Amino acid sequence: MVYYKFQNNEIEDLKVGKIICLARTYKKHAKEMRSEVPKEPLLFLKPSSSVIFNNESIIIPSITKDVHHEVELGVIIGSRCSKIKKKDALENVLGYLVALDITARDIQSIAKKNGWPWSIAKGFDTFCPISDAVLKERIVNVNNLDLSLKVNGEIRQKSNTNNMVFTVEEIIEYISNIMTLEPGDLILTGTPEGVNQIKKEDILESKLDEICSLRVNVK
Ligand code: MG
Repeated sequence: MVYYKFQNNEIEDLKVGKIICLARTYKKHAKEMRSEVPKEPLLFLKPSSSVIFNNESIIIPSITKDVHHEVELGVIIGSRCSKIKKKDALENVLGYLVALDITARDIQSIAKKNGWPWSIAKGFDTFCPISDAVLKERIVNVNNLDLSLKVNGEIRQKSNTNNMVFTVEEIIEYISNIMTLEPGDLILTGTPEGVNQIKKEDILESKLDEICSLRVNVK
């Protein structure tokens, strides 16, 4: 089982639940993938066994030749909820973090071509690095946060959550109308443009404003 790490150990015993991810929530990223932004959120799940933390290592599996970084805002659910209206959505949020939705792009491309799920491309061990989390009270407006990723000191991804085509409130409303959300569930809200390949020995540094930071390497 995997437990969140909160800054200053504010919360100590919260398990990482299901990880619900969105795809194509930033227009420029959809474009670089030669895809359209969907009218409704496009969802997939990542296993909690893929989670790693600060100063740990992404392990590239031998069956892929093309692993990509995707930096994303993560939303941690604080209370069991279903069929939530967007005006009440943030009441069910406990906190936020910055995450990497690591993706075996070559395996994902084959899946897309065949209409298969993305579980393999997205689900390997170590494919979900997450930062220490902060309580939501630390964040003034979750829909206006800078998000960035450097690889070996060079900026690869830089955007703001105000470029997402859905607000966090709309995302929670949408997901909670499909599946009950429970304490510890994590929503990864999709990545902005600039996704690219990572290689062994790379060092990845991500930031959410100046509030959360995540540093992992690749093996
Ligand atoms: Mg993603």
